[in-house]
Amino acid sequence: MVPLVLAGLAVILVWVAPGVMAGRAALRRVPRAALVAWQAVSLGGLLCALVVAPAALPTALRGDDVRDHPWLTGLALCITAVVLARVLVSGHMVGTRIRAIRADHRELVDIIGDREREGLVVLEHPTPTAYCIPGRGHRVVLTRGVLDALPEDQLSAVVAHERAHLRARHDLLLEFFTVLHESVPGRLRSASALAEVRLLVEALADRAAVRRSGEVATARALVAIAEGRVPDGGTIAGASAPLRMRLLVAGDRPGLALAAYGVALTALVVPVALLVLAWA
Ligand SMILES: [Zn+2]
Repeated sequence: MVPLVLAGLAVILVWVAPGVMAGRAALRRVPRAALVAWQAVSLGGLLCALVVAPAALPTALRGDDVRDHPWLTGLALCITAVVLARVLVSGHMVGTRIRAIRADHRELVDIIGDREREGLVVLEHPTPTAYCIPGRGHRVVLTRGVLDALPEDQLSAVVAHERAHLRARHDLLLEFFTVLHESVPGRLRSASALAEVRLLVEALADRAAVRRSGEVATARALVAIAEGRVPDGGTIAGASAPLRMRLLVAGDRPGLALAAYGVALTALVVPVALLVLAWA
């Protein structure tokens, strides 16, 4: 029985919950807690699928499975094996792809850009754009257009935003969700989940910019670079500008943050508790 509950819970956490969470716009007002909930729900779903087989073992070892549900152990093994294989393959492919793109990109900006202090690279291009290249030897890349167009306080906001991405390793967070996203069969993928996580990451970095330069300078900087385009492998600074500007001035919701942390804890504890129950 427990393996079936785990499989059902995996379906809920992987396919149902992301749609529900992506539809809750209020979560964007508590981006840190929302990202914790997103990670925990995704990890919880993965954990459920991976422990289906271990949870079926006690029944199989007692011989109950053979007598009552001869298909149960086989099905449980299949679910765990398929999920594990898909996640490992996806992890390898996504990791290899992202690192290759990033290394090429870093090499390119080092060749064509001017290295400034503290990991800043300036590209001689009129379009106002800013982004970061995360990972080892990370860079914050600014175009001449953004340097010319933005006053000092807005420029500080832009740099603070990009440095927040680098410091918090938002790239690893997005990589984790991309791996999970691509490990799910194409028809069942939820593009809105990945888009929502990207937006939350941007909202979190915007808060770092606000702490540095204030709401007005950050909002103006967002507008100024909203038209900029960022190559693959970087982290965009100008996407979803109107929505992010609204989030800049939206107040905190401590109760909602607490609820999100509660969801996160539940999503991680329940699979472990069910596995313990199966072996009890
Ligand atoms: Zn950003």
